[in-house]
Amino acid sequence: MIEPETLGPGSHRDHRLRQLRTLRHMERFYDAFNRFDAYLLLHRLQQAGIAAHVFNEHVQSIVGDVPPDVAQPQVWLERAGDRPRAEAVLAALQADRRKTGSVRCRKCGEDNPATFDLCWHCGADLQVS
Ligand SMILES: [Zn+2]
Repeated sequence: MIEPETLGPGSHRDHRLRQLRTLRHMERFYDAFNRFDAYLLLHRLQQAGIAAHVFNEHVQSIVGDVPPDVAQPQVWLERAGDRPRAEAVLAALQADRRKTGSVRCRKCGEDNPATFDLCWHCGADLQVS
């Protein structure tokens, strides 16, 4: 039996290497409005059997003290070959969104889902008329 201690830093490095190897084959698919948007798409992709991940740690570490929901997360596909199916999932998601309507920000002109209270782009209050 191998004692956990003997696995030590070496096994940790192997794990990191495996992660990096996976990342190299991944494909950036979608820049989300916010974390909610990213996870909504992620769940749809997973339901369709597509392996995907949400990354936004890098953005957060660069921007520092910006709240997490302002930093823009990205959805990455584990296999680039899944992109055509992922595009279909995204199209379906966006069609659902159009049904609920969108609101254009008065301050910066970006479109926001009608369910949003604050502009994803500039943070302005969308409910103010
Ligand atoms: Zn705005």
